Amino acid sequence: MTDCIFCKIVRGEIPAKKIHEDDDVVAFHDIHPIAPVHFLVIPKMHIPSMADLQPEHEAAIGKVMVVAGKLAREQGCADGFRTIINTGRVGRQEVYHLHVHIVGGPEVLPPMLKY
Ligand code: 5GP
Ligand code: ZN
Repeated sequence: MTDCIFCKIVRGEIPAKKIHEDDDVVAFHDIHPIAPVHFLVIPKMHIPSMADLQPEHEAAIGKVMVVAGKLAREQGCADGFRTIINTGRVGRQEVYHLHVHIVGGPEVLPPMLKY
């Protein structure tokens, strides 16, 4: 995907504060952090959203989740963190390249979303 901002980060065409990269997964700090720790973990493969996941993506998404947990511990979330995947219009997804937010820090986070 030539125009996708996260594909550009994967290809190194725009800068990002990367904290992990392997053959299948990249993680980098969110440009507008909402907590002391806020980073994104993405598959290198362009999958627009969680609603587009297919059985052939299972291995890639499994790797994303394993990397996310490991990095959360390393980045200062030893006592827990919040994992967010926004999907589509209703989920207020802004970037249509599937990504997992890891949000946390030393303090307890505010309550989850309420109606
Ligand atoms: P979502 O799509 O789940 O609503 O959130 C997209 C997230 O990507 C936002 O938290 C936003 O701050 C982050 N973001 C958008 N563009 C960039 C960018 O160019 N670099 C980085 N590091 N983060 C970005
Ligand atoms: Zn992409």
